[in-house]
Amino acid sequence: MKKQIAIIGGGAAGIFTAAHLLSFLPNAHISLFEKSSKLLEKVRISGGGRCNVTHACFEPKKLATHYPRGEKLLKNLFHHFQASDTVEWFTQRGVALKTESDGRMFPVTDDSETIIKAMLLACKSENFTIHYRSAITAIRKGSNGGIALQRGETVSVFDYVIVTTGGSPSEKGLQWLAVLGHQIVKPVPSLFTFNLSKPHAELMGVVAKQAQVRIQGFDFRSVGPVLFTHWGLSGPAVLRLSAFAARFLAAQNYQYDVHINWLGGLNDEEVRALLATQSAVKLKNQSFEHLPKRLWLFLLDRAEVNPELPWGDTPKKHKNRLVNILMDDCYPAKGKTTFKEEFVTAGGVSLQSIQQKTLESKSVSNLFFAGEVLDMDGVTGGFNFQAAWTTSYTVAKAIHQRETRSPSL
Ligand SMILES: Cc1cc2nc3c(=O)[nH]c(=O)nc-3n(C[C@H](O)[C@H](O)[C@H](O)COP(=O)(O)OP(=O)(O)OC[C@H]3O[C@@H](n4cnc5c(N)ncnc54)[C@H](O)[C@@H]3O)c2cc1C
Repeated sequence: MKKQIAIIGGGAAGIFTAAHLLSFLPNAHISLFEKSSKLLEKVRISGGGRCNVTHACFEPKKLATHYPRGEKLLKNLFHHFQASDTVEWFTQRGVALKTESDGRMFPVTDDSETIIKAMLLACKSENFTIHYRSAITAIRKGSNGGIALQRGETVSVFDYVIVTTGGSPSEKGLQWLAVLGHQIVKPVPSLFTFNLSKPHAELMGVVAKQAQVRIQGFDFRSVGPVLFTHWGLSGPAVLRLSAFAARFLAAQNYQYDVHINWLGGLNDEEVRALLATQSAVKLKNQSFEHLPKRLWLFLLDRAEVNPELPWGDTPKKHKNRLVNILMDDCYPAKGKTTFKEEFVTAGGVSLQSIQQKTLESKSVSNLFFAGEVLDMDGVTGGFNFQAAWTTSYTVAKAIHQRETRSPSL
């Protein structure tokens, strides 16, 4: 009799798992249960409709550093399926990918539909059945080692079940997995921009290209572009910090102080040396590689120094104020804004509750997890899809190896 495998959730992880299972185990039957009427909805809207599929970072150890949660687990799994494997998988299916200057990879068509078509084509098989509008509400250990799934009044039993239900905004939404003995890490949002208590709308659109940002009380520094928005601060350095500090900020109820070193982390001595290189130039006419003029003039005003004086003639007290502002500018912040291009949930099924090599549940045999349902998430830039592709491959390979009884991964 054919092996019966169920996948719960038709997002990136669910469909990628199905595609691999269909290729590894052509004689198995896969049933996919999707609670909505559509597949791959997040892929469709991802990356502003372009789908940032992965990131051009092809070294497992380095790739793993982009995950505030799940770094250790993913570092090992990337040795089996990493960003270069993603590129190869899509290329083999006729989808050419391109790399942007910041490393993000997109289909050359700049259209997420290209990715969706390739993934669905890879699942085209008479051994694949999709059940739309079919929310699974409970999982139970069935008789003879099977796993029973409940949807409405219907109960069906499978040999293997893979949970790919994505991030849940609340702990309650993961209760059906908790009752099986899995620990749940409370979900909180990740990847958001900072709302300043007093926003500087006059600077909207200004970017400091190489700023260092940190949050008071949280020991992590993020370096890169910082952008002024209507409400506050955004840009890669801010988004990265929001991901690493996601739990800390939730615990602070999103009331926090943002500290910025506008010169990428230069210390007191280095800042003074830099200003002294243009010692005879009026401060307002000094220029720096990574600081736009508008921001520089704003910072001079903020430091209450005379912009008409050169650095050499500026009183010591004023010099100190300017150096402090450049090195450790502080902005009280209150609240956050969802980053529309990409946002994820930190939290979910604890990695302590699953086998690290196979992603199988420690409490229910033959039950596996892949994708954002796990307490694992990355910063923005294609890393979250990469985690979905890698964990999906891992699960499909583990089931394949169990079925063919070959040695460990
Ligand atoms: C606006 C936006 C843009 C993004 N852009 C990017 C990007 O460009 N690059 C990137 O790397 N990441 C991006 N992300 C993050 C990325 O989309 C997710 O990390 C990824 O989709 C996770 O895949 P998943 O399959 O685990 O979960 P999901 O894609 O969320 O899929 C889960 C599926 O399970 C279904 N489901 C849930 N519960 C049940 C149930 N009980 N029964 C049946 N079905 C169920 C859901 O309806 C859904 O279809 C973006 C996220 C958002 C919100």
